[in-house]
Amino acid sequence: MRVAVIGTGHVGLITCVSMAEVGHDVAGMDADPDKMASLAAGVMPFYEPGVGELLRSNVAAGRLRFTPDTADAVAGADVVFICVGTPPRASGEANLLAVEHAARAVAVVATGPLVVAQKSTVPAGSAHRLRRTMALARPDLADGFHVVSNPEFLREGHALEDALRPERLLVGAESVRGHEVMRQLYLPFTAAGAPLIETDIHSAELAKHASNAFLSMKISFANALARIAELADADVEAIVDVMGADARIGREFLGAGLGYGGYCFPKDLVAFQHLAATLGYDFGLLREVAKINDEAVEAAVAKVREALWNLEAKRVALLGLSFKPETDDIRFSPSLVVARRLIESGAEVIGFDPQAGESVRAEVPDLELAADPYEAARGAHCLVLGTGWEEFRSLDWDKLAELVAFPIVVDGRNFLDPAEVTAAGFTYHAMGRPTVAPAPPG
Ligand code: NAD
Repeated sequence: MRVAVIGTGHVGLITCVSMAEVGHDVAGMDADPDKMASLAAGVMPFYEPGVGELLRSNVAAGRLRFTPDTADAVAGADVVFICVGTPPRASGEANLLAVEHAARAVAVVATGPLVVAQKSTVPAGSAHRLRRTMALARPDLADGFHVVSNPEFLREGHALEDALRPERLLVGAESVRGHEVMRQLYLPFTAAGAPLIETDIHSAELAKHASNAFLSMKISFANALARIAELADADVEAIVDVMGADARIGREFLGAGLGYGGYCFPKDLVAFQHLAATLGYDFGLLREVAKINDEAVEAAVAKVREALWNLEAKRVALLGLSFKPETDDIRFSPSLVVARRLIESGAEVIGFDPQAGESVRAEVPDLELAADPYEAARGAHCLVLGTGWEEFRSLDWDKLAELVAFPIVVDGRNFLDPAEVTAAGFTYHAMGRPTVAPAPPG
């Protein structure tokens, strides 16, 4: 089938690559012309494991191309995906201006009937608005526009795996034609075992927000437990292991630490709360989830402060800056909130991240960047682990002990092995876990 993808960011590019990989003929379009030129040359605009190879092979095979021209992308397409950004407004409401612009631009250049699949995360009711926008722009084609909601569930860092072998596909539509075309489009995935869930359009839109809100709630639940565990001299990791052994609860996402970040959870939670309020329901639970998430970062900063007393003229090495491992995405990164708080309090912060280095400069100009964890640690009064990158599991703690000014670690992700860290002479502080003093020599 012929597929056009409007917006080729984290979601749109993965959509382009996965659709081309299963044999569809795909054209990607983005408002950023530089991105179009570099993608056409096979250059990835961000770090996402495995995607670059498939981008290049599908471009070379002629199944995937990029164009800054909407008309060129949309001409002859069976399905147009809308994958543009939906950033939060100051009120918390999702800003849907890019979605409206993209929908209108598609309608204006459409050459015939189309299925428009909304992949950006939008509040319930948006698909109807989208269809109305398109119909107003092209009254002659109004009956031929079938808008469907097709929320994206990919996880950054595992995006390719999630796109090629999805746990579930979700399509909400209000026309038989919309469902039929999407069924055909996803046939290569469903034939390989991916379940396709079909719903009405509002339920699909709500299901995406509900899923993200629930996952955020699980993280905040673990973080609230961490605060209680600290007060009760208990270990949150032991508690969540016990809870997670219950299949009804599950261990995944029951993780205490600095809390959630990224481009989805924080903004989607607030947007969902805003939507609920607009519809007349006060979803107070979500307010608490966000509050507990903010407190998680503050708890980590308080641990550094407790360990170092005054932060002025203290040097803190921050390991991991991206919002989670396996991505260079720093949008709403909790680690960067820690950096800002420490800098505001007078500390000098030197950060290291395996992938997210350069983009951080603009975001937190006062954060110094190191080329590796050891350079970051040199002369540091405290090491803070901000993101649980797998490569931090093999840090040489004896070498770090020789480089630091004070042997103190604050593990913001409960990620490190306390025995290994304390054996090298460090005092180990974690989130919701007892502090462990350095192991005695020998
Ligand atoms: P992104 O910022 O990485 O990409 C958005 C792209 O849209 C950019 O390349 C931008 O240049 C382009 N764009 C903006 N306006 C445009 C327009 N009018 N026409 C053409 N292109 C335009 O954002 P993202 O992370 O890909 O997120 C996109 C949507 O998908 C959001 O609604 C997000 O909530 C949702 N989502 C994101 C993820 C994720 O993990 N990032 C997962 C699921 C859903």
